[in-house]
Parts: sequence; structure tokens; C-alpha cells
Amino acid sequence: MLQSLEALHTSGVYPKRDLTIVRGMGARVWDASGREYIDCVAGHGVANLGHCHPAVVAAVQKQAAQLITCPEIFHNDQRARLLALLTELAPGEMQRVFLCNSGAEAVEAALKFARISTGRSEIISTFRSFHGRTMGALTLTGQKKHRTPFEPLLPDVTQIPYNKTEALSAAISERTAAVILEVVQGEGGVRPADADYLRAAQRLCHENGTLLIFDEVQTGLGRTGKIFACEHYDLAPDMLCLAKSLAGGLPMGATLLGARVGTLPLGSHGSTFGGNPLTCAAALAVLAVLQAEKLPERAARLGEQLFDRLRAAHLPLVRAVRGQGLMIGIELKQKVTPLLQALQARGVLALPAGNTVLRLLPPLVISEVELEQVGEAVIEMLTGYQHAIN
Ligand SMILES: *Cc1c(COP(=O)(O)O)cnc(C)c1O
Repeated sequence: MLQSLEALHTSGVYPKRDLTIVRGMGARVWDASGREYIDCVAGHGVANLGHCHPAVVAAVQKQAAQLITCPEIFHNDQRARLLALLTELAPGEMQRVFLCNSGAEAVEAALKFARISTGRSEIISTFRSFHGRTMGALTLTGQKKHRTPFEPLLPDVTQIPYNKTEALSAAISERTAAVILEVVQGEGGVRPADADYLRAAQRLCHENGTLLIFDEVQTGLGRTGKIFACEHYDLAPDMLCLAKSLAGGLPMGATLLGARVGTLPLGSHGSTFGGNPLTCAAALAVLAVLQAEKLPERAARLGEQLFDRLRAAHLPLVRAVRGQGLMIGIELKQKVTPLLQALQARGVLALPAGNTVLRLLPPLVISEVELEQVGEAVIEMLTGYQHAIN
């Protein structure tokens, strides 16, 4: 009944699954009939703290009764605390932050800062990247299926192969305003970059007066085993884009700005909802829990366990297992969609990353028992599927 009501009025841009989720707690969600699932979709990597983490719920309830909206033309206590904490945690010297409401907006802000800071318009991004769906972020996104219907897009954007230093060194010049990279490509198939490549990218950017932007919208906030994925390699980007799990499920994006980034003219950029006290309070709770519960370390340890288990299973349908921390991609020898359905039937929700990669983004608070259940369900499902097609 509710499914058909939604189907009648939805915009039609989402491929929808036959499942109505009505409640969540920790790493689990429940459908309308009370059936339980282990949630390795986690809102596309939003629920790093799991669903309804008590610290986030308490912070939101308290702040909702105190002050929900306050535009950035005024100061606010929650915002001030969040900005201080974010810049303290940030890699390198990042002392300023632009707050907004989504990943795409964090990327759009980075584009504007890059243009104004350098006086240049050329931007380099990579094939298979994903940076969002607004027109600017879409131009950077290296996937034809997202771009083609909406052309013409922004001018002066060049796309090059990911993780290939020669391609970057050939493309970059003193006309390049910025290079934008994911430390691990998420939507594009869970592809981690090599440390050497990322270091070379930083060096090439410095040599050319180009700004290096890391899009950590998916990899940030503990997902890969560090608060920010670039910390694995001791890198210092000029801008860092965050969103997804930053405010524990409330909409929030942030663009962290390094010392080489200039300032925009007063009033030339902004956001009505950006930096509102409610999401700032939620984000403060998220960052406190990440640190207190050592969730990045937990993601590193549990991720390794699941990796080892999946690799050791030597599944014939699996071409490769990739990832970092609890960001895991299983590259298959066939299309992933029917397998996602088979996994859902076994009580585990998972994501695709492209046509042939099964992606697992479990909440970082997932228990070891739950994660074992996920590993078992994936292995049994892939084994069963293999038998069925033989
Ligand atoms: C999800 C994602 C985005 C876009 O975030 P939205 O909040 O959907 O706009 C941008 N970059 C990366 C790496 C993402 O994973």
C-alpha cells in the first residue's frame, strides 16, 4: 500500500528495491513486516555510526529544542565548536571550512575556491570517479552514463585514467587550477589508489601551482581505517570534501580549506541551510563517538577479517576483492544486480559499485558476530549462485 503510493508520486530517478525500511538500530534495519536485515548499504555510507546511535539521537534531540536554524550571517556556539574540531582533526594545515548540505555541494564549493584562488579554470578529474550530480560536480564525474544525458557541461575539465602517474604528469600544467581525486574510488568500483600515485599527485600539484582536492565524501570519517583516508599516506591536500556520514545521517557537507587556498569575495558563495546548529550538533556528536569508540581502528581491524575470509573462500564467481577498512568491493565475473537480491533474501543489504562490483559499506559499529554473518551470507550466496548456473 505505502509502496504503491510512493511509486505513484516518486520522481522516477531511482531504481527502487522491493523493500520498505521503517526502523534502524546499530547495524540493523527492519522492514514494515518486522523482518530484520544487516545493513551494509548504511545509507550509501552515511551510517558509519550505525542507525540511531544514542549519542547522535541525544545531541539532535537536545539541539532541536534549543535552536534549529541560524544562518551563517550570525555566529553560533555549535558551529564554532564544530569548525574548531574539524580543523583540529584535518590533515596538514587546514584552518577554514565551508559548510553545506551534501557531497555535491562540497565539491561545487571546492570548484569555486579553486577557480578564484588560482585565477585558472582548468580542472583535472579521473575516469570512473564520482563527485556528485549537480552540473559542476557532474562534469568532474568520470562516468558517461551520468554525464551524457546532461551535456553540454562545464568547459575546461579534462578526465584522465585513475592511478596512472604518467597520465597525470602529461595532463597537468601551469594552466591547471585543481586536480580532484578520491583516495579510494567508491561508486566507480571500490578502487584504492597506490600510495606512490597519490604522493606523485601532491608533488605535481605543488610544482604546477595547482590545488589538490581530495573528495573524501565516501572515504572520510573512519570508513577506511583512519578518520580521513589520506592519513594512510601522510598527505596534505589543499581541499578536502566531506559529507555522507559527517552528521550521522542529517544532511551535511564540508569543504576543508588549506593554506594555499585563497578567499572568495564576501557574499559570492553561501548556503541557506549550511552550518545550521542542528546538523552541527549532530556532527559534533559523530566526531566525539568516532574518537571515543575508536571506530577508525575498528574499521581497519574488522575490514581485514572480512577481507581475509572472502579471499580465503576462493569463490569461482569472484575476480578480485578490493578495498580499505570497511569499504569493500567484490569484483564479480557477472552482473551484480541479481546477486544483491539474493543477498537481500538472506537478510543482508548491499550495494553495487558499477555493473559487476558488489560493495559492502557496513556501519563501523557492526559487531564481530554480525560481520561474520555478512561474510557467511555473501559466501553462501555466491556459492549457491555458482551451483545454480552450472
Ligand atoms: C556520494 C558521493 C558524492 C555525492 O554526495 P551527495 O551527497 O549525494 O551529493 C560525491 N563524492 C563522492 C566520492 C561520493 O561518494
